[in-house]
Formats: sequence, structure tokens, C-alpha cells
Amino acid sequence: MITKNTKRFFVFSILIIFFLLCALLLYINFHQQMSFPVQGATKRDYDQNSFGAPRVGHKHKGVDIFAPKGTPVLSLTRGFVLFTGVLKLGGNVVLILGPDFRMYYYAHLDKIEAQTFEIIDSKEQIGTVGKTGNARTTPPHLHFSISKINPFSSKVYYDPVPILNEILKAK
Ligand SMILES: [Zn+2]
Repeated sequence: MITKNTKRFFVFSILIIFFLLCALLLYINFHQQMSFPVQGATKRDYDQNSFGAPRVGHKHKGVDIFAPKGTPVLSLTRGFVLFTGVLKLGGNVVLILGPDFRMYYYAHLDKIEAQTFEIIDSKEQIGTVGKTGNARTTPPHLHFSISKINPFSSKVYYDPVPILNEILKAK
């Protein structure tokens, strides 16, 4: 006999299996290439000390990569788009869960060109550089950060600068 509970359990199991498969898929693809998140950018376009730089009331949690408005923003990793939308500070943002289970956050976008809940490839365009959110008074740039999923961990944000340097070196 199929009760309401068995039905629920069935749906729940399917969902779990689906997410495990997604996780596996992402994991398998982790060693694919990583791509620099701003098309055509060089080492001169970001400050080596951008991460941890003092800001009003806190330390800078990511890196700012400066580029003309409209420059394509590319996904650094392959990943799963968790959120696209408008935030007060970030403006137009895209949040991607990477294959390493870290969160990749792209902010101040002029245009968002990714869909929530889609799987995106490394080097795929997810938006354009802009100055939305609290970047209205600064030159257009991409605010990019990498964080752990667990917000209770002591170390939540990673310094993206060494990773960016590595990608440019490998080019
Ligand atoms: Zn920033």
C-alpha cells in the first residue's frame, strides 16, 4: 500500500540521489581548467593586497578586479549556480557552488547572464563588469570572493589572489 509517507520518502530519496549525482559530476570535473574571471585582465588590474584590506567596519573579503564596464565576467570553475539576483551591497550578483564545495561570488555586475540552478562551465560567461550595489562611486570592477560553505567555521573566506596569479601564470 502506498501511503503519503512512502510517497514522501520516495521523493526525498530521488532528490538525495539527484544531488549526490550532481556532486559527483562536479567533483569529477574539478581538475578541468580554471579560467580567469575577467576576460582579458592582467595582473595590473587587481591589487595583490586586495584581500584583507581595511574597509569601513571590516576587512575586504575578496579581490577587486578592475575592467571597463561591459567586460565579460567568466566563471572561474565549473559549478552549480545557487543564486542570481540583486543584493544591497553586491548589486547584481552570481553565487556559484564550485566542484570543491566552495562558494564563488561575483558582485557589482552590470548584467547577469546566468540562470539560477544551472550547471555552468569554467570560462562560460555569467555576466558583465559593472558598478552596481555599493560600487556606484568607484570605477567599474568585479568583486570576487571564495568562501567555505560552513559559515560557522573560523576561516570562512579564502584569499583568491594566489589562485588568480596561478591562472595567469599557466596561460
Ligand atoms: Zn571588493
